[in-house]
Amino acid sequence: MDNKYFLGFDIGGTNARCALILSENGQFKILTSQKHSIRGAQTPKDVALVIRHVVEKIPADFNISPNDLSGIGVAIAGQIAIDEHTILNAPNLNWHGVDFQAAIHDAIGDLAPDVSIKIANDLNAIAWGEYNFGAARSISSLLAVYVGTGIGGGLIIDGKLMLGADNVSGEIGHCKFPHYKDYPCGCGQNGCIEAFAGGKAIEYRILHDIQNNVITREALGLDADEHPTARCIERAYKNDLPYARAFWDETALAIGMLIANAIAILNPHALLLGGGVLEGCPSLLHLVIDHVMDLAPRSATANLQFIKPTLHDDAGTLGAALLCLK
Ligand SMILES: [Zn+2]
Repeated sequence: MDNKYFLGFDIGGTNARCALILSENGQFKILTSQKHSIRGAQTPKDVALVIRHVVEKIPADFNISPNDLSGIGVAIAGQIAIDEHTILNAPNLNWHGVDFQAAIHDAIGDLAPDVSIKIANDLNAIAWGEYNFGAARSISSLLAVYVGTGIGGGLIIDGKLMLGADNVSGEIGHCKFPHYKDYPCGCGQNGCIEAFAGGKAIEYRILHDIQNNVITREALGLDADEHPTARCIERAYKNDLPYARAFWDETALAIGMLIANAIAILNPHALLLGGGVLEGCPSLLHLVIDHVMDLAPRSATANLQFIKPTLHDDAGTLGAALLCLK
């Protein structure tokens, strides 16, 4: 029996998800998963201390010593350098050029001095998790596009996770379109599609329209203290509000055109569409799929499968742990 234990983390802008994972004869099983708030604790050192807390607590609950962990995989929404420990750019955390592996080693050095730590892009981890154990099993070429706070992508070709020459392939949210050239992106450049159609950008656009009297909070059905999000557009779209129809048409065209162009280049077997905005807004998702089918080359869509995530919150932690084996 070959039992190994891994900790997987998926660090978002406000939460850190974590899971203790058992690898037994090639099968991976999540023993427990948790969510920790990192709101207000967002320096690399602060987040590393959250990781320390987990390393101290969770293995102990299963009578495992932190030193017996075979690896710690950390997925994070950002661009990771080819050394797989430096975060080049994580806009939601405002981290740039951070050696996060060193920060974690500093935080847990006394608990698990020899454990290997791998840092991965969150969409690479999610795509790899869904490919190995979720919705995309047995699909050898996969494009994953997630619209959440930002827009991320992960790419598997012929069963291999594509990392690119500099470990930053799949950064689909930072593709540029001339229509968005005046939109500044968290990556430091202008014109990225994420700066127009990511969840954070959607909220910004609604707020801007409310402030400029293009639409009222009442028309959007917002309570007095409710923050406008993609879901209020989805709700208003279903109520046939012209503003919401136009908003979703424009947003879906942007995302659909982006994905159609990626399909023209990659010709994947399947498209995995997820993330809080697409999963929480089915009308937007349908419009995006319509545009993809309309705009991508016919030869590449004839057999294209559209699939939904099945691992949900576990995909990133499981995928990050799996990447420790690579
Ligand atoms: Zn960008």
